[in-house]
Amino acid sequence: MAHPLKHAESSARKFGGKAEDYLPIHNWFDESKAFFPDFRHRALRHHAEGIFLAERFFGVAIVNSDGNEVPVRYVGEQHVREDLGRIPTAEDWLLQIKPQRWMCGQRLEDKEPSTKKEAV
Ligand SMILES: [Zn+2]
Repeated sequence: MAHPLKHAESSARKFGGKAEDYLPIHNWFDESKAFFPDFRHRALRHHAEGIFLAERFFGVAIVNSDGNEVPVRYVGEQHVREDLGRIPTAEDWLLQIKPQRWMCGQRLEDKEPSTKKEAV
């Protein structure tokens, strides 16, 4: 499953109401695709912490168009499971990053000899 609308339709089948009730939550999960347009965008919000962040953003529950409260966390869990088949941790994603020297704070100018004259 990829498009937020498909996730929203799935939410409506699972929790009642209309797809539009859930679309803002699913759009939020996939917003990162706007600046990293392949599956790796999911590293930013498609994990357990991202689901809790969605809850802080949208509240503990939304009221769908049937008038029923639906926990935002359940909607987030559904989204991530539909995309990944499970709910990874942020650590699962971060451990896949290949460490680079700059990530530990080494400045670029420390790496290459300077051609600039020192100010006196
Ligand atoms: Zn997604």
